[in-house]
Amino acid sequence: MPDTVIVGSGPAGLSAAINLKLHEKDFAWFGSPDFSDKVEKSEKIANYPGAGLISGAELNARFLAHAKEMGLEPVDKKVTNVMPGDGMLMILADNEVYEAKTLLLAGGVVTAKSYEGEEEFLGRGVSYCATCDGFLYKGKTIAVFCGAKRYEHEVEYLAGIAEKVYLSAGYPDCALDLPNVEKITPIKAVQGGMKVTQILLHNAAEIPVDGLFILRSAVAPATLLPGLATDGPHIVVNRNQETNIPGVFAAGDCTGRPYQIAKAVGEGNVAAHAMLEYMAGN
Ligand SMILES: Cc1cc2nc3c(=O)[nH]c(=O)nc-3n(C[C@H](O)[C@H](O)[C@H](O)COP(=O)(O)OP(=O)(O)OC[C@H]3O[C@@H](n4cnc5c(N)ncnc54)[C@H](O)[C@@H]3O)c2cc1C
Repeated sequence: MPDTVIVGSGPAGLSAAINLKLHEKDFAWFGSPDFSDKVEKSEKIANYPGAGLISGAELNARFLAHAKEMGLEPVDKKVTNVMPGDGMLMILADNEVYEAKTLLLAGGVVTAKSYEGEEEFLGRGVSYCATCDGFLYKGKTIAVFCGAKRYEHEVEYLAGIAEKVYLSAGYPDCALDLPNVEKITPIKAVQGGMKVTQILLHNAAEIPVDGLFILRSAVAPATLLPGLATDGPHIVVNRNQETNIPGVFAAGDCTGRPYQIAKAVGEGNVAAHAMLEYMAGN
């Protein structure tokens, strides 16, 4: 069992990974191989000490190079669920369960608004994981929200299983063109009884479906880990980056404003040291 699992490969997750590696800890690190979309998209960054006036793409490339130099590479899997166990944590990443003594949540802030009904129907027709739940929809009709180009292969995977896929893309240049995939306008709500029966679009159209897959880069913290103390979209932490759940720490944008790289890096560092102390005492 690894000592730690890190969720998120932005500045906060990277900073924690570097510090844990320096302390020769065994950990699993999940996140995008492209590191942080947010850093990448920043036109000019002027307030990260030592980097001068730098483009986000250049700083992200430096983060990547630093990680590579230290033999660190995030595993391209999305963590969709965490279950606290007896003195350990069970973490579901894509289709696999990992166990760890400590967990760092560093997935950035979830700004996307949930769909109406999303939480209510989670596990009853709403899923965040194509590879985990896709097989349940063999020959059925589903809707998919694809939040970024990097999830298009998951849409293709679902299209290979389901009979019909209604696709809402959250980005402008979606080039997916498959015979059983029909593009739709933005989704407003997911509805049903015991299970999902339809989606409602912003243009008021109702489409009967058996399920809805939501492929976003981040999962709202309270959905990821039920019982986690949150304040709006933020995870509540103390000065050691500890959450209310023993062994679970959080760092970066997910803990609150200001949304800044230096804060994320600093909190990742504090969290790594606090996790080391926690592990030494348990
Ligand atoms: C346009 C723009 C300009 C900005 N300009 C500046 C600036 O000039 N100076 C500055 O200091 N800051 C700036 N920022 C803010 C800065 O980018 C963020 O504060 C910083 O990236 C936060 O780092 P983070 O590690 O907390 O999260 P993020 O950078 O958001 O990284 C989170 C990572 O976690 C991954 N992830 C999320 N959930 C999961 C999951 N469930 N499983 C696996 N992986 C997951 C995501 O894919 C992502 O790779 C800017 C942001 C934007 C959008």
